[in-house]
Amino acid sequence: MNAASNAEAMTPIFPGSVDAAGQRATLGVLGGGQLGRMFVHAAQRLGYFTAVLEPDAHSPAGLVSHHHIQTTYDDPAGLAQLSQLCQAITTEFENVPAQVLQTLAQTRPVAPSAAVVGIAQNRIEEKAHFAACAAGSGVSCAPYAVIETPAQLQAVQAERADLLPGILKTARLGYDGKGQVRVRTAAELAAAWAELGGVACVLEKMLPLTAECSVLVARGWDGQVVSFAPQRNVHVNGILAVTHAYEGNLPPALATRASDAAVSIAQHLGYVGVLCVEFFVVADGSAHGGLVVNEMAPRPHNSGHYTLDACDASQFDLQVHALAGLPLPPPRQHSPAIMLNLLGEVWFNASSQPREPDWQSVLSLPGTHLHLYGKLDARAGRKMGHLTITGPDVDSVKAVARRAAGLLNLPGLDVL
Ligand code: ATP
Ligand code: MG
Repeated sequence: MNAASNAEAMTPIFPGSVDAAGQRATLGVLGGGQLGRMFVHAAQRLGYFTAVLEPDAHSPAGLVSHHHIQTTYDDPAGLAQLSQLCQAITTEFENVPAQVLQTLAQTRPVAPSAAVVGIAQNRIEEKAHFAACAAGSGVSCAPYAVIETPAQLQAVQAERADLLPGILKTARLGYDGKGQVRVRTAAELAAAWAELGGVACVLEKMLPLTAECSVLVARGWDGQVVSFAPQRNVHVNGILAVTHAYEGNLPPALATRASDAAVSIAQHLGYVGVLCVEFFVVADGSAHGGLVVNEMAPRPHNSGHYTLDACDASQFDLQVHALAGLPLPPPRQHSPAIMLNLLGEVWFNASSQPREPDWQSVLSLPGTHLHLYGKLDARAGRKMGHLTITGPDVDSVKAVARRAAGLLNLPGLDVL
């Protein structure tokens, strides 16, 4: 797609350089959340100036950026200022209107492209893309049906009993398990669709998962691709709780298949930037060959946060490199790691009273790396930060992770 057409045109933007107009090399990001904050940190460490477009006055990324343009994501004046300030622009969340990326791309390199973000924004298009890639990637998605009209609902009720029990997912705007309803019967399906407001959905067959994993791929304007080894993820209540990143976290053959599939999906998209592809591991002997592609995120991902502390280049470093047209060095993981997500619950005790987490004890544990995102209010389910544990070997990392999880009352480590 855009990558081929832009490959020739993309001249590297070197950190610290000054362009013809006398402007210091500046990278921009749409969205002010924690992913934007970690992008800004990585860009600044290399020597870039940064600009964040984000309406919230106290956003994680806006607070640490050189420039904070405080407008809505589709404000023409805000977007004009962003493209005036920045030599290249990315997005930190996939629900930015694709049209906005298209507008910015008329004046500046934008990665990932509006076309690719548009696909990732819509489960129906995303699954169609996975199906189109299946021959090359060797991995297909869970059996599903599209429900956009009452007639389609009736057809699915009448003809697709194989999809039940299943999960009805809105085509757009789902994250952290939101916009999803589990259904067992045709009647529950109809009720769930009504509950979701009759919007475009997919009904996906509920699969017997034995594990979940994800792969982070970085691809440059010139088509160069590098990736991190697959990480194993544990979700609690539909939200990522724990990421296991060490040798032996997954059966090796499965890990290789997941890596190859993710790279193939990025290539098919002509993707530029960092892409995360999430997979389900299903019980052996199933019709799916053990691996099913779930969804993709057109940006760095929560499951890749361990790369900040356990690898010689993080997912955010590679995002900066890819955007600016710098070389993409293959990342090397130097330590086994476990990442624990810190949701708002950590700031409340068992009687729902606010509390300060016991950082004194947590930070005295060896190999702990605390990342808080600068959010002002802790709320249940809100991603406030994460804690990565690195160490000399897997057993010691697991032992420290258990102790940290105990001190902070974190879930999800029972499957260590
Ligand atoms: P994210 O925060 O990753 O964007 P999301 O809200 O888009 O999440 P999914 O990744 O589709 O949602 O699903 C959330 C979780 O629900 C999955 O990680 C998995 O644990 C479970 N799940 C989703 N679909 C299925 C399925 N077909 N079979 C079994 N479990 C599923
Ligand atoms: Mg998901």
